[in-house]
Amino acid sequence: MKHINTTPPHPSKPINNPQLIDTHCHLDMIAAHADVNTVLSEAAQQGVTQVITIGIDVQSSQQAILLAHRYQDVYATVGVHPHNAGEVKPAVLRKLAQLAGDSTVVGFGEIGLDYVKNHAPQKIQRRAFTEQLHLAKELNLPIIIHDREAHADIYRLLEEAGPFPQGGVIHCFSGDLAFAEQMVAMGFALSIPGVVTFSSARSLHEVIRHIDLTHLLVETDSPYLAPVPFRGKRNEPKFLIYTAQKIAEIKEVSLAAVAQATTANAIRLFHLPHADHDS
Ligand SMILES: [Zn+2]
Ligand SMILES: [Zn+2]
Repeated sequence: MKHINTTPPHPSKPINNPQLIDTHCHLDMIAAHADVNTVLSEAAQQGVTQVITIGIDVQSSQQAILLAHRYQDVYATVGVHPHNAGEVKPAVLRKLAQLAGDSTVVGFGEIGLDYVKNHAPQKIQRRAFTEQLHLAKELNLPIIIHDREAHADIYRLLEEAGPFPQGGVIHCFSGDLAFAEQMVAMGFALSIPGVVTFSSARSLHEVIRHIDLTHLLVETDSPYLAPVPFRGKRNEPKFLIYTAQKIAEIKEVSLAAVAQATTANAIRLFHLPHADHDS
């Protein structure tokens, strides 16, 4: 399913929408069902000019790097997801460190704790998380954290392993306002997913109302978590606009203000080039 092409033409200027950066998607999974060039072109037409594709194990981290080399405006991260925590062994950590040296790698993750699915025992998850936190710090990379129903342990393990001069992000943020404030105080950004468009996401709406835009990022986590009106369908980076729009509505600011702030935050955190270059 690899599309070996020369660098495809990439529409660099969105038609109407302000520029957005999808800070968390799984392009390697999307590639299993769709043509990546089309997915990226359609995203760019909706203003999504840059995407970060996230590793969840060694193989997907390698895929992320391949995709980032193949497509302009795609960046990669490397790391082992808590679901795969059992795989985190010294040889894997060495491999991740080696992959992280690639020029397309902008962050370390996703790593963290998932106490909802518990695909790996929690003790193993905590060990894999801590070991990778130390590695990320050594590599001087910002950290992408996955946290499901594990807020207290995430906080505790971050405190133990920190501080993290490069900062990081709690992706797909699902905590309450108190946890949001703790994370912001620790220097972490909060990334808002399409879940924000669900009417049930009241606690997330409260977080967005109270946390300043300078601490927020936007993401799709595609192919998962499509926003309304595509809920339940396969998600894609092009749907990011619905998330940004909802944040604007909640904060009672313009879409342009949300786009400008979250894009600037993403560029700063991940040291991305400014996207308004001529390609
Ligand atoms: Zn995740
Ligand atoms: Zn993810």
